[in-house]
Amino acid sequence: MNILTSFTNGIARAGGGALPKFRLSFTNRWLRLAFVLAVVALTFAGARLVSLGLLYVGLAVWAYRRWREGSRGLAYFLAAALVVGVGLYGFAAFEVWNMRAWRARHFDDMVLLAEDGTYEGEGKGRRGPIKVELTVKSHKVERFDVVRHYDTIPIALGAFDELKELLRGRSDLDVDAVTGATYTSYGAINAARDAVWKGVAGAPTISLVSKVTLWLTSLKLQRVTLHSLAVLFIVVLLFDYTIQAALVEGTGQSLNCMDCQTCVGACPVKRVEGKLFPMEMVLRARLGDYDAVAKLMEYCVGCAKCAAKCPAGISAPSVAAAVAQYLRKQKREEEAEFFEERV
Ligand code: SF4
Ligand code: SF4
Repeated sequence: MNILTSFTNGIARAGGGALPKFRLSFTNRWLRLAFVLAVVALTFAGARLVSLGLLYVGLAVWAYRRWREGSRGLAYFLAAALVVGVGLYGFAAFEVWNMRAWRARHFDDMVLLAEDGTYEGEGKGRRGPIKVELTVKSHKVERFDVVRHYDTIPIALGAFDELKELLRGRSDLDVDAVTGATYTSYGAINAARDAVWKGVAGAPTISLVSKVTLWLTSLKLQRVTLHSLAVLFIVVLLFDYTIQAALVEGTGQSLNCMDCQTCVGACPVKRVEGKLFPMEMVLRARLGDYDAVAKLMEYCVGCAKCAAKCPAGISAPSVAAAVAQYLRKQKREEEAEFFEERV
């Protein structure tokens, strides 16, 4: 059984067998898709903005449907969320710009402006963040230490030792990268600059609100992120069909089918036109191919043996009922009747 379905069914069982309200709301297809996007956003920092965008588009489609049904609350909420979101992002972008501009203006004086003390800073190394400690005394660098890094040790340690010597006693941080370890040493220098700004009174900083906004909207689609997203997409596509289920109504419990073929063994029909029956019908319903479902349904004798054996509780009649319900909603009465007669 796919992971999300197991999870939702687990919640249902925890509720004592009868379908509790929470299960019904969580198994809503749009919410399932939102859940997947939230997981992607939390897992892949670089893809958060893309995930949020997709989540918003999905919610907007949902809101549009509800709007047509006369319920406008969600649409107003989304419009307000968009305005607030854009406003927060604009504010965060302004704070970043303001901070960078201020730092650029005072670049040469940063050590002279810093008060005495030891400050921590972070820069980006070749293989991850570089964390440093910088001690300022009497407007000069007294001590520079790398506390944590992930770069190649022999190369990095040599570069850090050289930087220690280079920075000690200086009243500015305008130094060049170490030859042979350019990326690593540049990351350490940036970390030192990040540290020293913390000792400058009155230097603009980024507020917590902006930090959270930037965290939520990070966009660094590097190769690793893209590959991971591709793998995740395939997993979702193959094992959950969440995307199809979100886009196609009337798939009934077919979403829960795990292709085990138990129903095929139980069904007296077994094969129709070379296809496994009734599994083929369930899979067709999952994809929204109702013409194929209608054609296959003609072979069902309604004995319900498939329901008795299916581990997910799916039967051909239950799929037909879901399709009929959907067609009624679409005002396709004649087609709906065809399915209802066979339930
Ligand atoms: S209800 Fe239909 S699909 Fe299910 S076992 Fe009986 S004949 Fe086969
Ligand atoms: S028994 Fe049939 S409908 Fe049920 S999960 Fe297995 S393949 Fe799907």
